Amino acid sequence: MIRFETLLEKVRSYSPEADVELLRKAYVFSALEHKGQVRHSGEPYLVHPLEVADLLADMKLDIVAVAAGLLHDVVEDTLTTPERIAELFGAEIAHVVEGVTKIGAIPFSSSEERQAENFRKMLLAMVDDIRVILVKLADRLHNMRTLHYLPEERRTKVAQETLDIYAPIANRLGMSKVKNELEELAFRYLEPKAYEVLRSKVESKRAQAERAIDELTRTIRVKLDEAQVPIIHLDGRIKRLYSIHQKLKRQKIDLERVYDFVALRVTTQSVKDCYAALGIIHQTWSPVPGRIKDFIAMPRPNGYQSLHTSVVSEHGFPFEVQIRTEEMHRHAEEGIAAHWKYKEGRVGDQRDEPYFQWMRQLLEVQQEVRDPQEFLQSLKIDLYPEEVYIFTPKGEVKSLPRGATAVDFAYAIHTDVGNQCVGARINGRMVPLRTRLQNGDIVEIVTQGGHKPSRDWLSFVATSRARSKIKHVLQAEERARSIELGRRLFEKEARRFGLNPKTVLDSEELATFVTEYGAQKPDELLMHIGYGKLSARTVLQKAVPSGQLKGPPPGSTVVSAVKRVLRTGSADDRIKVRGTDEVLVFRARCCNPIRGERIVGYITRGKGVSVHAAACPNVLVFDPDRRIDVEWDSAGTDQAPYTVRLTMEVEDRRGMLAEISARVSDINTNITNMEARTGGDHHARIDMTVEIKDVKHLEKVIKSIKGVEGVLGVERAARI
Ligand code: MN
Repeated sequence: MIRFETLLEKVRSYSPEADVELLRKAYVFSALEHKGQVRHSGEPYLVHPLEVADLLADMKLDIVAVAAGLLHDVVEDTLTTPERIAELFGAEIAHVVEGVTKIGAIPFSSSEERQAENFRKMLLAMVDDIRVILVKLADRLHNMRTLHYLPEERRTKVAQETLDIYAPIANRLGMSKVKNELEELAFRYLEPKAYEVLRSKVESKRAQAERAIDELTRTIRVKLDEAQVPIIHLDGRIKRLYSIHQKLKRQKIDLERVYDFVALRVTTQSVKDCYAALGIIHQTWSPVPGRIKDFIAMPRPNGYQSLHTSVVSEHGFPFEVQIRTEEMHRHAEEGIAAHWKYKEGRVGDQRDEPYFQWMRQLLEVQQEVRDPQEFLQSLKIDLYPEEVYIFTPKGEVKSLPRGATAVDFAYAIHTDVGNQCVGARINGRMVPLRTRLQNGDIVEIVTQGGHKPSRDWLSFVATSRARSKIKHVLQAEERARSIELGRRLFEKEARRFGLNPKTVLDSEELATFVTEYGAQKPDELLMHIGYGKLSARTVLQKAVPSGQLKGPPPGSTVVSAVKRVLRTGSADDRIKVRGTDEVLVFRARCCNPIRGERIVGYITRGKGVSVHAAACPNVLVFDPDRRIDVEWDSAGTDQAPYTVRLTMEVEDRRGMLAEISARVSDINTNITNMEARTGGDHHARIDMTVEIKDVKHLEKVIKSIKGVEGVLGVERAARI
């Protein structure tokens, strides 16, 4: 078992000014908290955090990371809270420990590649400090090293997760040393038979391979010496079992034919020397065509740089050579960890943050892209890093844009689930459907058969999929409603002329008009009547031979019929919609606009056009697509007046009511109703309903009332 003092020495060796007391405190705290806990190996639990911290010290990480390594299981496995960690060790260490705890709590269940991909992205999206990942990787590495103590079932699960999630993350962070070990261990536990067979095969070739390595390295040394290319380091090795295994599987070939069974690595002083060494090696042995790769000129997306080539020895023995500088080698082994090393005097330097951002973006694009569609998707994520990753109750991961709600999630699962959703449970708790989802949420949708989406949902959904599905259902409903309304308007109009609506609808003349109008069937005409695009009268006139339809009845009759049907407002022929006469128009009751006022039309599907005062607060929330220009019809100046209700606050004195009504009557205004109520404060409130020609007339009336002594204020009531 590693001793704490050894760890301390290691940290001191690369960071002489490190706060040793902080580390000691973390160690003592961890020991106290984990006291009595035992690992599957039978060792005290403390061994694990100590080993994890030691791995982090091997990466030469700063004191925050090493301390977090010592404390990484304290929140998960003991009663300690993150707040307590923050109190004792500061916010930064607490933040890393909390991050490790959080991503450790995510249940990963599916080994399907797509799921694994989403899972990795979610994990990275949740991390705002790279040290969280580094601690987690060290944690996983030690757990893998001690995996044989676990029961078999758990072993397989952990190994699979390592292969699907953690090894690829280490790879993408360029940490090949960690990645290689994780893969090697996972392979051993996941496919013990294949592992054993391959191991013994490789073993049987080991002696031969090692002799070859000896001979080849000697030759290289001599040749490079002759050419005066200095070598910093030169070694050869048998490739890792997992990488041989994958190659065998991928190329469906036998071990005898694997080129990279043996690999030599040359470390040089400069990039120039790398290319010089490559030339000399190619002069010595024949290179295998298509196997030369220049990752120096074109680094891999995770930053890896090296020259690769495969050559065949004079005995017909193929082997790979990797050539790189010392700096490239360090980067290849340690990856991003090399960028988070302890730096004298600037622990946790924020200057590394852009590097991490860049890294995170690269990870998205770097996926082994199989088809263009997939590439576009990964690019999209890259350009809009604002995504959230959400779990279904079965552990599948869905990715949605940030700001997506429970309704978006429901539609992402299935259109029917979206249409019929009535509630949502996030992490087991019932929440409103408009709730915005957070990374890692487990979301369950509650549905109810026959339930329909609400228009209200359009105001909060974030995905175009949900939006278009909701609109689709709403439009179908609107259509049905409009057809029904149109039918009722048409039937009413037909009966007024003593006609049987059904006979008219079935007539040949109507069929002709349907075609003329460019419609498919009579229902479409009815729908347009309902929408207010076509009047029932027009349809009737087209369907009934001229002469049989006796002269148009007074215009107001249709309007009154409409009024009864609609009940939402009064149809008004004093207003025109610009460019057409065929639209049913009514004044909105919320603001009751009168002639001369600035007005705005709004197409209310299935009802016609409602006209609001431009100043009406409802206008603000209108869908701009449905606004329509309207104007007062100049032909109707002498038509019926508008009813307007005025409320006024006055001093409570005798004769007030009489005086006000006299003033109003003086300017030729008809008062249809007047009521007064007295309050307790010597004030009274008067409600007066008057008939008004237009907005100028109204202004005059208000002015005259204000001129009465004792009137404190006059207002136009919002509703009649
Ligand atoms: Mn752990």
